[in-house]
Amino acid sequence: SEVLICEGLEKSYNKGRPNEIKVLRGLDLTIPKGQVTALVAPSGAGKSTLLHIAGLLDTPDAGRVVIDGEDLTGARDGRRTAARREKLGFIYQFHHLLPEFSAAENIILPQLANGQSRAAAEARAADLLDRVGLTERIDHRPSALSGGEQQRVAFCRALANAPSLLLADEPTGNLDPATSDRVFDVLMALVRDTGLAALIATHNLELAAKMDRVVRLENGMLSEG
Ligand code: ADP
Ligand code: ADP
Repeated sequence: SEVLICEGLEKSYNKGRPNEIKVLRGLDLTIPKGQVTALVAPSGAGKSTLLHIAGLLDTPDAGRVVIDGEDLTGARDGRRTAARREKLGFIYQFHHLLPEFSAAENIILPQLANGQSRAAAEARAADLLDRVGLTERIDHRPSALSGGEQQRVAFCRALANAPSLLLADEPTGNLDPATSDRVFDVLMALVRDTGLAALIATHNLELAAKMDRVVRLENGMLSEG
């Protein structure tokens, strides 16, 4: 079954003005359950635009976004926000963890916001941190963690509410190459374990090659490979 369907996406900035820029030109993308897709794009090609539209943070000028069978393109803001919380996990280049909270609390809080009980949220946080090898760091604040450890906590937070789809923008982009490789392998294991569908933007072609499929964004369209 398809977790994400993007169909005929079009997006321009400065529409109707001389400096109009057509970023997406009828883009199609389908991601089935369990498939991890690498998104490769030259800088400025529209990678962030696509991730924002797929992540329900922005709307296309034309086309539709269907997640878990629900067309959310024209849905009300409240429904889109709820769908984002229930169905999507986000990972960015920089972790954006809450500095005042421990590793565990950073994973617990989004679950409480989603209506989970504290006991269940704590158990899930402990399990996720264990999967990424951070059981010893559960009570540490982000500032007491290395860059790679911070990013591993961010992975757990993205998965806190058991999303259907993970969207990641250069998830290991701010780490040195050796750390990036190790942390990326942790992310892949976590994604595989949970059977998530994922769209992971990266400039790193070696990392892209570890995914199930590579799509390239160029001239507003996607091509395979
Ligand atoms: P990428 O993430 O691949 O670098 P973006 O999706 O951020 O690309 O941007 C694609 C193109 O659209 C770029 O040329 C960028 O300058 C332009 N762009 C992005 N956002 C805006 C905006 N809000 N207004 C005008 N132009 C924009
Ligand atoms: P509650 O679930 O009791 O409503 P809050 O949303 O205020 O709690 O905070 C969630 C958790 O974060 C609580 O367990 C609390 O102990 C912890 N917490 C709150 N503020 C801080 C802080 N400044 N630093 C570390 N932990 C905090």
